[in-house]
Amino acid sequence: MNSKVDLHTHTTFSDGVLSPSELMAKAKQVGISVISVTDHDTVAGVPDCSKAAAKVGIDFVPGLEISASVEGVEVHILGYFFDPDNTTIREYCDTFRNHRRERAMRIVDKLDELGIALDHDKVIEDSGEGTIGRPHIADAMVNAGYVASISDAFDLYLKDGGPAYVSSRKIEAGDAIKMLSGAGGISVLAHPGQWTSDRTVMSLIRSGIDGVEVVHPSHDQSLQEYYRNIAREFFLVTSGGSDYHGPRKSSRSGRTTETIGRYFIRKTQLEKLDNVASNRVA
Ligand code: AMP
Ligand code: ZN
Ligand code: FE
Ligand code: FE
Repeated sequence: MNSKVDLHTHTTFSDGVLSPSELMAKAKQVGISVISVTDHDTVAGVPDCSKAAAKVGIDFVPGLEISASVEGVEVHILGYFFDPDNTTIREYCDTFRNHRRERAMRIVDKLDELGIALDHDKVIEDSGEGTIGRPHIADAMVNAGYVASISDAFDLYLKDGGPAYVSSRKIEAGDAIKMLSGAGGISVLAHPGQWTSDRTVMSLIRSGIDGVEVVHPSHDQSLQEYYRNIAREFFLVTSGGSDYHGPRKSSRSGRTTETIGRYFIRKTQLEKLDNVASNRVA
């Protein structure tokens, strides 16, 4: 009854390390009873994830994490309860999958100029079925021995404004919100505490965002309280999850940390999110 609901996870369909069945096995182990997989800009993993969840007896909510833009500023918008076969969402994912591939190739070109020679084809190949992102390139850099860890790859080269950074094309946040509601789903601003200003949060509220992610590894207690108050004031629903990408090794300590099972919401909160979506369709 008091079981854990994790609405923010990633698999190999984007930049996660675990396959859908590996993720679901791990989720089961740590006591999660409802899960959403929110791979970046793709719904390609929904059928596999849904099946894998059912196999271990976990309820599954279709999800997606959209990289969007508000007045030129990047935000991540989580979508839930939408119809994964919706044509507009399918087209969005196809378009941005291609944009992401082109961008990845430009990042590899920039790295090449900096003396880091990666094989274009291999980088694409190793991303498999997944939507390619900077973590895949970071991985290739580690494997080729240019950097010691993924976080070093980001800090030294790939981070926003870094020497090999290339910005990605993004959907306008207002359009992403409309796309999700048009597909019977809801929209939730992801991890606002990471880098989203209050001005941007207000702009998203005006655009009709339904909720805000309150529980997230990057939010301490006071940030959680801060966003819970904003949600109360502006009648938003609240959400949360682990943003799990798989076990990650720290470059400093060499230790592997696991966030899954430590960041979650409860079923009563999930029901409130579900109600927003249900009322929309009705
Ligand atoms: P992209 O979607 O290609 O812009 O890559 C962004 C993703 O990279 C985020 O969703 C994170 O999963 C990951 N990321 C961003 N910054 C870092 C960092 N400093 N270290 C490790 N992973 C990061
Ligand atoms: Zn990611
Ligand atoms: Fe994100
Ligand atoms: Fe995420």
